Parts: sequence; C-alpha cells; structure tokens
Amino acid sequence: MSAEVFDGFAFSEGIYEGLRSRVLKLKARGIVPGLAVIYGKGVLPAESYVRAKIKASAKAGVSCGIIPMRASDSERDYVRTIQRVLKDKEIHGLILVKPFPERVNPDKLESLTSPDKDVEGLGAFHFGKFFMARRFEEIEEEGLIVPATALAIAEIARKSIPSLKGKKALVVGRSNIVGSPAAHLLTMMDVTVTLSHSKTKNLKKEVHEADIVVSAVGRPHLIHGSWIKKGAVIIDAGTSSVRGKLTGDVDLNGALKKAALVTPIPGGVGPVTAALLLRNVVSLAERRLP
Ligand code: NAP
Repeated sequence: MSAEVFDGFAFSEGIYEGLRSRVLKLKARGIVPGLAVIYGKGVLPAESYVRAKIKASAKAGVSCGIIPMRASDSERDYVRTIQRVLKDKEIHGLILVKPFPERVNPDKLESLTSPDKDVEGLGAFHFGKFFMARRFEEIEEEGLIVPATALAIAEIARKSIPSLKGKKALVVGRSNIVGSPAAHLLTMMDVTVTLSHSKTKNLKKEVHEADIVVSAVGRPHLIHGSWIKKGAVIIDAGTSSVRGKLTGDVDLNGALKKAALVTPIPGGVGPVTAALLLRNVVSLAERRLP
C-alpha cells in the first residue's frame, strides 16, 4: 500500500478562489481587507514567515502591511506600535510574529490585541465563542474566528474522509493554538476524539487505534510508521528543522506504507493554514460592514 500524499497548495487554491470573490464584494463597498504583521527584523524564521504572508495576502487580494521592529526596540516601542495598529481602521487583522527579543514579554503584547483584529482567534472573545459552538457549519455561517492551523486540519480531514461521523481520531498535542481547537473541530464533526499530550502513557497504542491521527508536537519522527493503523489518515502539523530541513512529527516513509493519506512537511497543512488565516482577515473585515 502506498498512501496518497496530500497536496496543500492545490487544496488551498479553492480557498483563495472563494476569498477573492468575498474580497471583491468588500471592495465594491469601499472596504479593502488589511492585515498587519509586526515582526523582529533580521530574525530568520520570522523573515520567511513574513514573506509567506505577503505572498498569501496578494493571492487573496488582501492588503498586507509589514511592520519591522529593530533589535534595539524596547517593550514600550512594541506596545506603541501595536496600539497604533489597533487604532488603524484600515487594518482588520494583526499578527505578532514570534520570537520577540528577550526583554519583551510576549504575554503582555498578546494581551493587547482586541477582538476586532484577533486574526488568530486566541483572545477570550473568539476562543470562547468557538468553544461554545457545537456544529462545524457555524464557523462559516457565523464567521467564527478559529486558529487557522486547527481549521486547516479539520478541512483536510473533511476533504479526505467522506463520512467522518463515528470515526476515531487521535490528536497529539493540546496547545490552544493547534491541538485543543483541532480536537474541538473534529468533535463538532461527530468524530470520537482522544486528545493526547506529553503525559500520555501509551502513544503507540493510541495511534494504532485511530482512523485519523493529527500531530501537533514539534518532535521529529515522534510517530512511527509501524504504529499506524492500515488505511488511516495522517495529518501532520508538527514542524521542526533537522539539519536545515523541515521535518514533521510523523515518520513519513513509514506512514506512506500503512496510511491511506498523509500530509507532507512542507506542502501539507502549511499552505492551507496560510489561506485560512487570510479567510479570518476577510471575516473580520466583513464584520465591519454596516
Ligand atoms: P506547544 O504549545 O509546544 O505544544 C506542544 C504539545 O505537544 C503539548 O501539548 C505537549 O504536551 C505535547 N507533547 C510534547 N511532547 C510530547 C510527546 N512526547 N508525546 C505527546 N505529546 C507531546 O506547540 P504548538 O504551538 O502547539 O506547536 C506544535 C507543533 O506544531 C510545532 O512543531 C509547531 O511548529 C507546529 N505548528 C505551530 C503553529 C502555531 O501557530 N503555533 C502552527 C502550525 C504548526 P503538554 O501539554 O503535556 O506539554
């Protein structure tokens, strides 16, 4: 058996197509959706993240303002910059790209974001509304702002398995940004979900019992191919750099022999996440319509 390798770039094209028509409607009403990205200039992972955001925004027709911070900038400089962005009516979403300099407290910066620009959906307002929702359809119907990687995982699962109802999923990793919202999204789609973490006793057994395995840990090859149930769908969001090469949590070669579908790193969950983050910007812009 050789699994299908999911093509995140091809899948994201459909999302961008939908976005472009929503953006055109907004523009016809005088609103250009705008994203602002604040990052530390010269920080390499941040620089490549920023380039990806510029490219994705252009594809969606969203305006993207890049705000580089200098290595010498203080926490007060960051706070002032964020406050300026929050007041800017032409910006509908703000991303703070980590890592920040050591002297800057990330929790303090993140606590400044307001619900109308919380494109990552991590503030209490959107996070709370999302966890109160029970049906997956409510996300689009209500324009809920959900952490984009978790949403990408759910969309990939929905696309790959025609009938998700009653399937068993294992989500490895319980962070607010990926694992926990991914588990909630799958539950909304009537999947029976196990949420595992660093204290889970027998990960091998949990993986072996799952029809869908989602991994969001950041540990290369944590999940062995031999553990995987025959015909399972493997969605890998973990990203680590091994000798300069991006690597997922799942042993890809081993998984290819057992699974029905595997998302690669890079080119799997990542491009879908990028498109869905832009969808969050557009949803926030639509909320401003009179
Ligand atoms: P995180 O906050 O560090 O969470 C990692 C999770 O993995 C924790 O819940 C941790 O368990 C669990 N874990 C650690 N070791 C484990 C083990 N041996 N077995 C099972 N679970 C284990 O990380 P994150 O921000 O969610 O990111 C996870 C991965 O996804 C990273 O590779 C990251 O690059 C990638 N990613 C992140 C984002 C993002 O926006 N942050 C987006 C896309 C992809 P405990 O809770 O018990 O500590």
